[in-house]
Amino acid sequence: LDVRCAPFRGRTGANLGTIVVLHDITAGKKMERMKSDFVSMVSHEIRGPMNSLLMQIQVILDGLAGEVTAKQREILERASGKIHNLTNMVSELLDLARIEAGLIANAKEELDLRTLLEEQVAFHLPAATAAGLELALEPLPTLPLIQGNPQGLDEVFTNLITNAIKYSPAGGRVTVAAGVDGGCLAVTVRDSGYGIPEEDLEEIFASFYRVKDANTRTIHGTGLGLAIVKSIVTAHRGSIRVESKLGQGSAFTVSLPVNGG
Ligand code: ADP
Repeated sequence: LDVRCAPFRGRTGANLGTIVVLHDITAGKKMERMKSDFVSMVSHEIRGPMNSLLMQIQVILDGLAGEVTAKQREILERASGKIHNLTNMVSELLDLARIEAGLIANAKEELDLRTLLEEQVAFHLPAATAAGLELALEPLPTLPLIQGNPQGLDEVFTNLITNAIKYSPAGGRVTVAAGVDGGCLAVTVRDSGYGIPEEDLEEIFASFYRVKDANTRTIHGTGLGLAIVKSIVTAHRGSIRVESKLGQGSAFTVSLPVNGG
């Protein structure tokens, strides 16, 4: 039951009573729960056979079923890559279903974003270095605590930092900065990468949307990462915005309410 109430005042401001609106949301919640259970079940049923497929291909690649020619190896490795992509997509769909079912919004705790961001940057440093990029956390001011879901926010910054690395040519720089902006805590992940065409900026947060750009079209992905980011940020009553210039880089800013609401 969704209950909202508001005072009902007369022209002089005198309190005449209270308006209470009761809205039965049982059916909607039930539907959401069914959708999420269905996606969980399907994901689980799909992941098992896919892992077994990967293992069987690996057995052949390891030469345990006889000698493998270079051409056969190439085909099997390509097939493995595609199955890996599918497995990722299934995990991401499962994430989206869990977020939509309210699991993130309902499990919040008091969090220090400084620690979370320090750990995120340390975690992604090897991948950035391997890609020939610098990755740095800008000096942070004192940050207020927020109400957040640690796994959810880890996923937000993992996705943003992974994208910044993925969509930047070697020699670039990725930075993570945070500060207080009005009643919000704002975190910006900035890269000096390929950038995003202006006409795509509105669309990139939609599920499965990927930019078809000469530089980035060969880079693997599912188009679900930013949809997940947006759902988690929304579940925190926050917002996300992007600024980008083609050929110069992108900056994604996540704003989270300080008192958590
Ligand atoms: P994926 O990376 O799996 O394709 P995302 O939802 O994370 O999916 O991103 C959607 C699209 O937005 C990407 O395909 C890419 O074209 C674009 N994009 C996201 N982040 C960046 C970035 N930092 N720099 C350039 N393009 C980006």
